Amino acid sequence: MNTTYTLTNSFHNTSATVRPVAITEGRFAGMHKISRKTALRLRNELCGIEGCTCGGNFGERGGIVLDVANEDYDRNYIVDLSRNNA
Ligand SMILES: [Zn+2]
Repeated sequence: MNTTYTLTNSFHNTSATVRPVAITEGRFAGMHKISRKTALRLRNELCGIEGCTCGGNFGERGGIVLDVANEDYDRNYIVDLSRNNA
């Protein structure tokens, strides 16, 4: 199941939505993927300031934190949604 999460950034007072995609095969089966492109989009929507270190992997600060377990060969993020704080 693909759930939509709303990430927030309490420093810039912004929010952005993301729907991690379920991984069904391979070593990351059971986890979810957030593509590198989506991660960059989230960072841009939540912060957007070059060199700003206000947020986490996806530009989030406060609110929901998605637990990054790994990155694949294309630098997409593998997140473990069983370990997020939502
Ligand atoms: Zn920022």
